[in-house]
Amino acid sequence: MDTTMRCGYAIPGKVYLIGAGPGDPELLTLKAARLLRVADAILHDDLVSEEILELAPAGARVQNVGKRCGKESISQSEIERRLVDYARQGLAVVRLKGGDPLVFGRAGEEMDALSRAGVEFEVVPGVTAVLGAAAEAQIALTDRRLSSKLLLVSNHHSREKFGAGWAHLADEDTTLAVYMPGQNVARRVEELVAGGLSPDTPCAVISCASRREQKVVRMTLGAVALADALGAPALLVIGAVAAERAMAAPDWSIQKHAVQANAAPEVAVAASAGSESRAELLFAEEFSGEVTADAAEENDEFRFDAGAAERNLSLSES
Ligand code: SAH
Repeated sequence: MDTTMRCGYAIPGKVYLIGAGPGDPELLTLKAARLLRVADAILHDDLVSEEILELAPAGARVQNVGKRCGKESISQSEIERRLVDYARQGLAVVRLKGGDPLVFGRAGEEMDALSRAGVEFEVVPGVTAVLGAAAEAQIALTDRRLSSKLLLVSNHHSREKFGAGWAHLADEDTTLAVYMPGQNVARRVEELVAGGLSPDTPCAVISCASRREQKVVRMTLGAVALADALGAPALLVIGAVAAERAMAAPDWSIQKHAVQANAAPEVAVAASAGSESRAELLFAEEFSGEVTADAAEENDEFRFDAGAAERNLSLSES
C-alpha cells in the first residue's frame, strides 16, 4: 500500500465525483474511503448511507443536496454553483452519489459545469445499484444460457424524454435493470408486453439492496404491473435470469439430464431438439459438449467434463 493510501490525501481546489455504492459501507472503494476521510466539503445525495457519511472528518462541511420526490430540495444549478465555489475557495470537495456517479446520477451536468468553470475534477466509480442488487438476489445478470445483454434503463428519465414507451425494449435475450421504477411502472410493463415480452417473464424487485432494510421479492412481469408500489429505493430486474434459481431452470432438472448424460451425448440434444425452451436446448448442448463457437469463448472452462458432471449430479441429488 502506498503512502497516499495510509495517510489520506486529497488535492485542495479539486472536486471528486465519488460513487458511494448501494449502501453497505464495505462496498465503498478504498479510494472513495480515503478521499472521504480527508475531504473539506462533502455534498451528498439522499441515498448515501449514514455509516458512509461517518467517515467524514469532524471539521468537514457535510451537506445533503439530495433530490427526493415530494421534498424541498436544492436545484441542480445550485449544487453546481456550490461545487465551483468550494473548489475556488481551495477546499478538497467530494460530490458523493449513490451507486456509481455516472449511472443516472446527473454527473454529466456537473462535469460540464466544472469544466466551464475551469475546476479540476476526478471521477471515482462505485458499485451501481443493479450490481449490488444482483449480488444480493444472486442473479447472474448475463447468464449466457438465458441472456446476452444487460440494459440499464430508468423509468424516470424515459418519462422525461420519450413518449414512445418501452415496446422496443422487449427482448427475451436481454436483462433489463430498471432504475427508479416508480409508481407508473405498470405502464412500462404494458408496453413491454405489447412489444412481445411474456407476462410470465420472471422479475425480481430488490429494495434497499445491501442495507439492513433490504427486501428481495420475486414475481412475474404481469404481477409487477399489478403491484401498488415497489418500495424505495428499488431496482427492478426483468428477464429469465431474475427467476429463483430453482425456478429458472425447471427443465434442467438434474435427474432428467442425468439419464441423458449417462447415455450417448447425442441423445441429450435429440431429446431436447423438439423442445421450445431455448434454455433447455442450450443446456443440452453443454451436456453434449456441442458448445457453440460463441459460447466456447476464451478457454476450456466450459468443455464438457463427463466425470465432473456426474459428480455434480450426485451432489445435487444427495
Ligand atoms: N447512481 C445510482 C443511481 C441513481 S438513480 C447508481 O449507480 O446506483 C436512483 C435509483 O437507483 C433508485 O431509484 C433505485 O432504482 C436505484 N437504487 C439506488 N440504490 C439502491 C439500493 N440500495 N437498492 C435498490 N435500488 C437502488
